[in-house]
Amino acid sequence: MSDLADKEFSTRAVHAGERSRQSNFTPVASPIDPSVGFLYESMEDTDAVLGAEKEGYVYARYGSPTVSAFETAVANLEQSEAAFAFSSGMAALHISLLAAGVKAGSRVVSALDVYGATSSLLRSLFSSLGVHVTMVDAAKFEDVERTLKEYPTTVVLAETISNPLVRIADVPTLADLAHRYGAQLIIDNTFATPYLFNPGIYGADYTVHSATKYLNGHGDVTAGVVATSMENRSNLYELNKLVGSLLGPFEAWLALRGLKTLPLRVRQQCDNAQQAAEWLGNHPRIRQVHYSGLSSHTQHALAKRLFNGKGYGGVLSFEIRGATKSDIFRFMEALKVCLPATTLGDIYSLVLYPAISSHRSLTPEERSRIGISDELVRLSCGIESPNDIIADIDQALNAID
Ligand code: PLP
Repeated sequence: MSDLADKEFSTRAVHAGERSRQSNFTPVASPIDPSVGFLYESMEDTDAVLGAEKEGYVYARYGSPTVSAFETAVANLEQSEAAFAFSSGMAALHISLLAAGVKAGSRVVSALDVYGATSSLLRSLFSSLGVHVTMVDAAKFEDVERTLKEYPTTVVLAETISNPLVRIADVPTLADLAHRYGAQLIIDNTFATPYLFNPGIYGADYTVHSATKYLNGHGDVTAGVVATSMENRSNLYELNKLVGSLLGPFEAWLALRGLKTLPLRVRQQCDNAQQAAEWLGNHPRIRQVHYSGLSSHTQHALAKRLFNGKGYGGVLSFEIRGATKSDIFRFMEALKVCLPATTLGDIYSLVLYPAISSHRSLTPEERSRIGISDELVRLSCGIESPNDIIADIDQALNAID
């Protein structure tokens, strides 16, 4: 409001100090636009924006400028036409499944060892709504193909690097198989990040991220994002208008800021994970290390090819020989640099016990079928010195001897 001089106190309290968009300066860092509503020069303009004849924003649940800035940055890094940001990685996955056409009677073929909540989303929620879900070992292409041949399938879903066994999905082969049988491919690229790999370039129709992890990277935002085509984005947009799980502008601003250091962070995290995996591989108390950066890993060559030698990710997992649940608890309590917190992809090194956290919702039999034993611990390397991370794990392993 331009002239407030003759207005009463309560009117001035609402309108004083509001900045108009027109100014003669440009801030270097993107500003936060928290507004829910948006004004235009005329009602004709408002009408045109509401009717999608003109570009603009109408209501924050549909989209807003800071969220768009984050989406533009992610689309650029994923080399996709477009991106759409959500309030969490689970919201991003859920709405991608709906956008890809999953409904009662559809079939989803999912990799067996996906994140626990993704597995529960499919096997509990979607199954209860009449969706048929088949979990397969995504590295066994004959099993994937047999399932696709047998049943018409709407979506194939896998993680580029799986949680927590860090198995590598051969995305080009899965895309080829999915498309050959008329299915769409959803790839969760959270662990790999667009720094290591762009699934969309290799045929994924929807590339999903829990941006809570590496994209934001600082452990202070819950967010999700999907990189995809313009056409698919408009499906996500229409669904989100009804479901209402758009990312908030403050979170989008933090995630955009975090994204700027993604390559620096991921390079260091991959380097730290490589050093930690090699050290753990020689430790007598460790039964097995899961990390594709190890030349002994069965998928080393595949990971090298897909990630172009840039690294193998910042997450690894390992089994502590003969450790009971109580031993693992003592190990985690003894850590001083690494934090026993239930997330990953942060600047902090984080250790998690999948059996009681990320995969708690699975029965012990389901976990053992996937290969998640009660001895398994996941380490997400932060950006600290690798020597300090390794020394910390060493002293914590000694604490349970
Ligand atoms: N995908 C993967 C691979 C994850 O590890 C997670 C969470 O840990 C999610 C999706 C869900 O993300 P969010 O917690 O942001 O909903």
